[in-house]
Amino acid sequence: MDTKAAGNGSNGGPVESAPSHFIRNIVAEDIKQGKNHGRVHTRFPPEPNGYLHIGHAKSICLNFGLADEFGGKCNLRFDDTNPSKEDVEYVDSIKEDVRWLGFDWGNREFYASDYFERLYQFAIQLINAGKAFVCDLNADQIREYRGTLTEPGKNSPYRGRSVEENLDLFQRMRAGEFADGSRTLRAKIDMASPNINLRDPVMYRVLRATHHRTGDQWCIYPTYDFAHGQSDSIEGITHSICTLEFEDHRPLYDWYLDQLSIHHPQQIEFARLNLTYTVLSKRKLLQLVQQKYVSGWDDPRMPTLAGIRRRGYTPEAIRAFCERIGVAKRNSNVDIAMLEHCLREDLNKRAPRVMAVLRPIKVVLENYPEGQIEELEAVNNPEDPSMGTRKVPFSRVLYIEQDDFREEPPKGFFRLSPGKEVRLRYAYIVKCIGVVKDPSTGTIAELHCTYDSETKSGSSQSRRKVKATIHWVSADHALEAEVRLYDQLFTKEDPDDVPEGGDWLANINPKSFESLTSSRVEPYLANAKRGARFQFERLGYFCLDSEDSSPDKLVFNRSVTLRDSWAKVEKSRK
Ligand code: ATP
Ligand code: MG
Repeated sequence: MDTKAAGNGSNGGPVESAPSHFIRNIVAEDIKQGKNHGRVHTRFPPEPNGYLHIGHAKSICLNFGLADEFGGKCNLRFDDTNPSKEDVEYVDSIKEDVRWLGFDWGNREFYASDYFERLYQFAIQLINAGKAFVCDLNADQIREYRGTLTEPGKNSPYRGRSVEENLDLFQRMRAGEFADGSRTLRAKIDMASPNINLRDPVMYRVLRATHHRTGDQWCIYPTYDFAHGQSDSIEGITHSICTLEFEDHRPLYDWYLDQLSIHHPQQIEFARLNLTYTVLSKRKLLQLVQQKYVSGWDDPRMPTLAGIRRRGYTPEAIRAFCERIGVAKRNSNVDIAMLEHCLREDLNKRAPRVMAVLRPIKVVLENYPEGQIEELEAVNNPEDPSMGTRKVPFSRVLYIEQDDFREEPPKGFFRLSPGKEVRLRYAYIVKCIGVVKDPSTGTIAELHCTYDSETKSGSSQSRRKVKATIHWVSADHALEAEVRLYDQLFTKEDPDDVPEGGDWLANINPKSFESLTSSRVEPYLANAKRGARFQFERLGYFCLDSEDSSPDKLVFNRSVTLRDSWAKVEKSRK
């Protein structure tokens, strides 16, 4: 079997319990009917003009997932027909991302550019059949002649050229005799068609651009519409799954395949993924990168797979998300809270718990012996006892979270405040007996507390209860760390929701990133590997940054907080 992965439940994939969807039903029915001799062959066809995003993940899971499920194959094919926007950097990142998601295309890594010669021959075939002609109108004129949704178009004055003249001109286009944009090869279909895609669409244009694979071998390039369907056909694809925008292109793809009398894959359209509080357009993502609104394609706030991977997302969480959102025929918006929910669900099972203090405030336990250190036992994951326990050092001087102390506690605040008690996780109950302030600024410098030695967690006398338990680290043992907090990149659920004449970039969230540089984490994290994921108790899930973290300078990214707004949404629906 060529595709490993998501699918069959062998690695915990959720497919078995997932509801079916219309594409799965079509494929199952086709197999039953013996269509394509029972063969299932899909492909994922990215254009290498940007990094993949979570929307692409939906398409990847669908195409590779179906192939896996029905014992078929799925190709990775780069639709690289537009050399001016494409780059090997994108090819490499796409391969890395598909692999990371857990899918394998075996030896079937293909490029539309591998078919340039065959596509050229297909074009000659159409010219010979009187179904294509060389047109001298420029791009603006072609647009003018095309007509509108309500008005038919006009025939090009060059439509009546003879086959011989067309063959001659097309060969000379290839030979480089004509300037960029001066001539095109167009299909001869119907300028009055109600479907604008059928109004003598362009098949080839003259373009002098160095291609990332074919170099300067070609100065004419096929359009996406002429290349896509024929590439699927050449590869013997049975089910060409694509997003709804291509529904109107299907009659054109059908026309090419019928005129050429070649294998005819079945095109099936589904609704693309849209997510709240983010954009999933490669053009916009490129703009965010180029104009430096983010640090790069892998900025942890980006919806790219590189970005969410760096943020700490797991492939398992993304595959579960893609399964859960389902596949439908109607466009809709998915709540980003659902994506976050899938990550929590996954990490809750797997991520070790540790203690970290993001915004530290010093606590001195006045009655705890100087120099004494206790190694307290802490549970690594209450969800999974097999993950065992670890030792956490406890001593006289600790750090707790600034937020866990209030000098004047509001009603209902049960954490630490003057004269009040709180439990330190895995340790003792402590009582605040003094607040030391910086004389010049008036800010709190440290808290003085006493501890109750009878209340050690897990000991027989530890029955005394207090209302709150907080996390902490030992000042002498804790490691310094930078913690990067991320929030949604946009303030609006729909970033494109702007007033007349407004710009979507105005909806960027100015507070989407905050770096805390004096955080402290427990010493257990000293040997953590880049990319490793943890739950910081009471705070959220965090991962060690794959780029900037080093043993001397730990850098953590907050992947997601613990607050699960999606669980609330689901509950309120019941
Ligand atoms: P472009 O405008 O550059 O074509 P694109 O997002 O369509 O952008 P492609 O590289 O052509 O990018 O996409 C590869 C495949 O992923 C296509 O089959 C496309 O339909 C699918 N895809 C792209 N965006 C989404 C999305 N948001 N949800 C589901 N599938 C998507
Ligand atoms: Mg596309």
